[in-house]
Amino acid sequence: MTWSWVHDEPQLIEKDYKTKYKEPIKEIHRYGQDWYLGTGVEWKDHPLKGYIPEWAGTECKNCESKNTKIIAAQWSVSYHSGDSYWDCELYCEDCGKYTKRAYAEND
Ligand SMILES: [Zn+2]
Repeated sequence: MTWSWVHDEPQLIEKDYKTKYKEPIKEIHRYGQDWYLGTGVEWKDHPLKGYIPEWAGTECKNCESKNTKIIAAQWSVSYHSGDSYWDCELYCEDCGKYTKRAYAEND
């Protein structure tokens, strides 16, 4: 199952990410997971595009625009269950909102 939320501010990356990060995407280990954080890249250029479906990695939940960039994402497999799960957050260039999505194979 995939869940989606809309926010005015980013949830999975620092609020000042646009100035904090110098690169569009950077691999960072945190919360025991490997995250890709940065100023953002389009889904088609993201290293996790094979794991995150195109609609989930491109579509703004607020205005349905696909003029978006992924600013935070991770993909993992649960050590215990073997189920995969991922999180991602998009910034919409058209409405300025943030769409956060989470997926869990076992739900
Ligand atoms: Zn939008």
